[in-house]
Amino acid sequence: MDKSLLNSARQAFHQAHKILITSHQRPDGDAIGSILGLGLALQNTGKDVQMVMADGVPSSLRHLTGSDQIKKNPEGDFDITVVLDASDLGRIGDFLDRGKIPDLNIDHHITNLNFAKINIIDPSAAATTEILWDYMHDFGLSVTQPIAEALLTGLITDTIGFRTSNVTSRTLRIAADLVDVGCDLSYLYQEALLNRPFNAARYWGAGLTSLKMENRLVWAELTLESRKSVGYPGRDDADLINVLSTIKDADISLIFIEQKNRTVKVSWRAQPGFDVSEIAAYFGGGGHKAAAGAEIPGNLETVEAEVLKATQKLISKCT
Ligand code: 5GP
Ligand code: MN
Repeated sequence: MDKSLLNSARQAFHQAHKILITSHQRPDGDAIGSILGLGLALQNTGKDVQMVMADGVPSSLRHLTGSDQIKKNPEGDFDITVVLDASDLGRIGDFLDRGKIPDLNIDHHITNLNFAKINIIDPSAAATTEILWDYMHDFGLSVTQPIAEALLTGLITDTIGFRTSNVTSRTLRIAADLVDVGCDLSYLYQEALLNRPFNAARYWGAGLTSLKMENRLVWAELTLESRKSVGYPGRDDADLINVLSTIKDADISLIFIEQKNRTVKVSWRAQPGFDVSEIAAYFGGGGHKAAAGAEIPGNLETVEAEVLKATQKLISKCT
């Protein structure tokens, strides 16, 4: 990483007193882990930190120290704004002043748009928390146990338990270093990745009844109706896409989640050798080669037809 970028970030943290830290909507473990990892470390140096997530904290991440401090809206003004684990400002929500460029963006998405004044972007990192661990020292910050737990949670969830193809020996060494700070890997893994409520499993069931496969593309849909009928409170897929991505007869898996505002949230997962980040970006979203998403305007039927057609084209091009 360019040393001058790291110095600029360190200086920005040093000079600021009131700091706003945020990340993307529908937060995952890397979004929450990054906010808490950096937020708690800055608080430990005496900074006034507000951690804000438009959608709040999912129940699977509320065991993390400091998660009760994360609010849905900021209060007052700030000296600097930091956006973590988000490749574009469209994913943050509406609370940031549209006319103001964020001061710092730290992210690992290959589709990152470099939207901040200082952009620390490393697409080779398996999680944004991996980048934070790398540069905590350069930022003049220390890693205590609660911070290590937040950072390790980002690694665990973004790599789905260290099983995605972008996991390197470096990722595993960082995880080992974080365990050495005092993290209980098995507990954090269980809480963030495995524990789920009964209605989430029923929601999976509803989605799985729609499962289809054609030409090595597998997909399922989650309708508003199915969500209501099983009483699932979220507007996500309860990680069902991680189950679809284990189907070995498919190269790419897709999930379509109907939303209330006449949009459809789409998630792509791809086997090594395929890149779904570009297709997600084409539909207004983004992500990584192996995992990408977009929120696409339209009804379930039309979005499904368009996305299936474009994704089938990608499969034919690559096989
Ligand atoms: P998921 O499908 O689990 O929501 O996300 C997979 C990956 O794609 C994550 O890295 C996530 O940050 C990214 N992603 C998901 N939805 C969007 C979106 O609407 N816009 C952008 N830029 N990235 C997205
Ligand atoms: Mn991430």
